Amino acid sequence: MMSVVISQPCPACKGFMVVEHPDWADFIRYFKQRGLKIIDMENGVADAWFAGRGHLFPPAQKIPCTHCRATGLVNDAIPLDRFIQLINQQEYSSCRLH
Ligand SMILES: [Zn+2]
Repeated sequence: MMSVVISQPCPACKGFMVVEHPDWADFIRYFKQRGLKIIDMENGVADAWFAGRGHLFPPAQKIPCTHCRATGLVNDAIPLDRFIQLINQQEYSSCRLH
């Protein structure tokens, strides 16, 4: 069966090519749970927290998406008959063909 390769927005970064550093996601959760304010970050809370994670300094908040190699797109090969069904449903009508 023939297949068609289509590009779709990366599910990990939603096509933005970057994702939040996982330690930042944890830090923001910690920050919110404790009801901390921005001023607390300036007082070294963030530096101390990230030091506890082994960072000399807080890392970049956004890092290149590894799922799509920072292209924002992922390729999927789908069988031709399934592709035709999807076109008819218009689910993939905005996808780019290769
Ligand atoms: Zn991605």
